[in-house]
Amino acid sequence: MTLLKIAQIGAPVLRQRARELTEAELASPEIQNFIDDLVETMHDASGAGLAAIQVYRPIRIVAIEVADNPRYPYKPNIPLTILVNPVLSPLSEDRFDNYEGCLSVPDLRGVVPRYAQMRVQAWDRNGTPIDREVRGITAGTFQHEVDHLDGSLFVDRVADPTTLTTWKEFAPHHEPGFRARVAAVVERWGS
Ligand code: ZN
Repeated sequence: MTLLKIAQIGAPVLRQRARELTEAELASPEIQNFIDDLVETMHDASGAGLAAIQVYRPIRIVAIEVADNPRYPYKPNIPLTILVNPVLSPLSEDRFDNYEGCLSVPDLRGVVPRYAQMRVQAWDRNGTPIDREVRGITAGTFQHEVDHLDGSLFVDRVADPTTLTTWKEFAPHHEPGFRARVAAVVERWGS
């Protein structure tokens, strides 16, 4: 397996719309090996998710996993999930404020409003259809990753720029309040 280079904000690839994959492409050894590399790169960088477009492949694949993540210690765990050609649809108008960061946006976090309940339709890495609901903090992670496939970064959605913070300043000044909000979101939405 190979660690892939992660594009940083300003790289034009991050502003492209990634293209859909065909079932035949997805089944190819080349794409299956690529998915292994994407997951390994996400693990190496301690990401909660990584979109193919972030490693200079503008195709509609994202990897998501949260397993006691040191970058995001308050995030509920999410088993390793590969989404191919994902479509997200809000199931209600309910939203919450999510403090986000991104492997493609070094040392910056900011508050992004996210839907609290989303329907996820996609293929898994074997081309098997996925049709499920995600909620709460987990729904925020899914929306962040799928935004990448449309050339969007979390900074585009930060409603109040005064919430922008480096990771060093996040810990003392913003994390305690956000942890309390996360607890309320998890209480209400279950994840
Ligand atoms: Zn990101």
